[in-house]
Amino acid sequence: MHFHNHQTKKSLGQHFLHDHGVVEKIILAVAPKPGDRIVEIGPGQGALTLPLLNKHGALTAIEFDRDLLEPLTAAARDVGELTLIAADVLNVDFTTLANGEPIRLVGNLPYNMSSPILFHALNHAAAVRDMHFMLQKEVVDRMAADPGSKVYGRLSVMLQAYCEVTPLFDVAPGAFRPPPKVDSAVVRLVPRPADRIGVDDPARLAAVVRAAFGQRRKTLRNALQHVADTAMIEAAGLRPDARAEQIEVAGFIRLANLPVT
Ligand code: SAM
Repeated sequence: MHFHNHQTKKSLGQHFLHDHGVVEKIILAVAPKPGDRIVEIGPGQGALTLPLLNKHGALTAIEFDRDLLEPLTAAARDVGELTLIAADVLNVDFTTLANGEPIRLVGNLPYNMSSPILFHALNHAAAVRDMHFMLQKEVVDRMAADPGSKVYGRLSVMLQAYCEVTPLFDVAPGAFRPPPKVDSAVVRLVPRPADRIGVDDPARLAAVVRAAFGQRRKTLRNALQHVADTAMIEAAGLRPDARAEQIEVAGFIRLANLPVT
């Protein structure tokens, strides 16, 4: 699918997928089941939208670029029931949209906004059954990294605290028009059930993790100076002279759950 007179907008991260093999792999990974409520972020020219609609019959899609709405609506008309929301996805309240029936998020995301979109989805994790996103490969590597890895950091801890993160496959720049400068990868995120997360105060966890990785070369004792003292670090079962990149997700959760003294 190619909308002939559409002027690609770099500022909106527009790189349109044109490799049918990749589209097919994403749809196989999503594996829509009857009754699933699928919500696509950034349908663009419909590379994923139309095949998903064809397979599933109905779909909601959130697109910011108003120039794409009319051609997308026209392209979808004979394929299935497309509900288009013309909005910045960051202003869409997924909890309201889900209305008690968790949604499945899908999207080849605008790379310049991938972190805000991921954190926005996390804020609505209870309303989201799972997510399948195309992102920069480098971001997927950071999301899925384990302690000890050079790329283990705030994104790894914050996502893994709330979701199971599974990288699925890599995608080369040539699969898109125009091609991005970087490699891409598709990742699956499955929010953990609320009773399995164990984070007492999400804002506190965010503050601890931000401080710990804000100065990743420092020891925990120094990096956490303003958020937790040595006694607390020890009470969480962590070594004050360890560095943030060595601490597993559960360690950060234990520390954040301690009462602040
Ligand atoms: N899904 C299409 C594809 O695979 O070819 C387009 C993917 S393109 C990488 C990202 C899409 O997200 C574009 O259509 C862009 O206009 C849209 N977009 C960018 N910022 C957005 C935002 N804040 N809210 C919703 N959509 C946005």
